[in-house]
Amino acid sequence: HVYTDAEVHALVEQENVRFLRLMFTDLFGSMKSVDLPISQLDKLLANRVMFDGSSIDGFVRIEESDMYLHPEMSTWMISPWGAEHGKVAQVICSVYKTDGEPFMGDPRNNLKRVLKQMEEAGFTAFNIGPEPEFFLFETDEKGEPTLQVNDQENYFDLSPADRGEDCRRDIVLALEKLGFDVEAAHHEVAPGQHEVDFKYSDALEAADNIQIFKLVVKNIAKQYGFHATFMPKPLSGINGSGMHMNMSLFNQDGNTFYDENDALQLSQTAYHFLAGVMDHARSVTAISNPIVNSYKRLVPGYEAPVYVAWSAHNRSPMVRVPSERGMGTRLELRSVDPAANPYLAIATILAAGLDGLKRELTPAPSVDENIYHMTEEERIKREIKTLPDTLHNALKSLATDEVIKEALGDHLYKNFMEAKTVEYDSYRQAVSRWEQNRYMSNY
Ligand code: GLN
Ligand code: MG
Ligand code: MG
Ligand code: MG
Repeated sequence: HVYTDAEVHALVEQENVRFLRLMFTDLFGSMKSVDLPISQLDKLLANRVMFDGSSIDGFVRIEESDMYLHPEMSTWMISPWGAEHGKVAQVICSVYKTDGEPFMGDPRNNLKRVLKQMEEAGFTAFNIGPEPEFFLFETDEKGEPTLQVNDQENYFDLSPADRGEDCRRDIVLALEKLGFDVEAAHHEVAPGQHEVDFKYSDALEAADNIQIFKLVVKNIAKQYGFHATFMPKPLSGINGSGMHMNMSLFNQDGNTFYDENDALQLSQTAYHFLAGVMDHARSVTAISNPIVNSYKRLVPGYEAPVYVAWSAHNRSPMVRVPSERGMGTRLELRSVDPAANPYLAIATILAAGLDGLKRELTPAPSVDENIYHMTEEERIKREIKTLPDTLHNALKSLATDEVIKEALGDHLYKNFMEAKTVEYDSYRQAVSRWEQNRYMSNY
């Protein structure tokens, strides 16, 4: 629902809103916000709120730093917390330059640009149903996160209610209050790990929802004395956190991935799209798994993918085809993790799929047996590539992939590459606990 000015004024009056929180997402997927007193409402509605873009990571240089925030009135909502100093209304904004053009360093604007390319290719929506996972850690007296989880539960475990479970319920309630259609919430495989799934929506709304979702999870967790983290692999030796993306491409007739006459009831469009996603998998991984720690999750043994393969019968590959058909026909991309900037991840995945359609690519045959039990020769024979094993290697693939670079645009690509190269270098130079334990006495 896109709120009109009149509706906004009525709501502000009725709920006695005192503050406005304008939010947008930086290059790294962090939500940034500017708070304004409610007296600035008319200025906001007239797209006249300015901010200094030079202090935002990956945005602009000092000399061109004036930017405008245009509120996206479909994302307007009254914040369910922080009312002790007066209620806060929040809205996601798009970033515009002083010349009135959308700023292309804004990941949200970039996703809109890629969605236009999708429309030009004859589609009406790229639908995304995300499955974000996260951990709840105990905090210490100072409120700092510890490495202690609060339970020893397991996947779908039902146990006497504990604080983690209560917290998860409160997260669901807060999300519903904000208009989310929550489909499932459950304990995940690792102790202290949870998942909340919400209904699919079109790409832009899904990315907005993921950002709001993270904010809700962090805030509610804090009320319980927990620290919620979307870090992909917070503890070694147990499952990490993914953010599976269920994807389908719609046109005016409905879901283009469904074809009742195919053996798997998948359309040619679905196969081409899948082939594009597999073809560009290594470079997309730089965006969908964007931090050093992401690659500690993409290892054998913890339900995260390691190989570029797909299956309709097996849960371990990078792309799974869930059993639902008809309108619910979809591909589930399982490599993505919740550290990804959702606007960038969705834009690059979409571009990969559209490229598969444009080039009419055919996917390698599905792999229904356990890839982890195959020899390397067998994998090579069956054209099974591996996902990158480090951020460094993912970036190297990205640097040579013109389709995925185009899906980011010049500004975002250059800034991303530069920042991530520095990030990897800093990691490479740091001596870790593991090395000290392993080598200190042996050498
Ligand atoms: N946590 C697993 C991952 O890293 C996924 C587990 C699951 O949802 N089955 O992707
Ligand atoms: Mg799930
Ligand atoms: Mg899961
Ligand atoms: Mg899943």
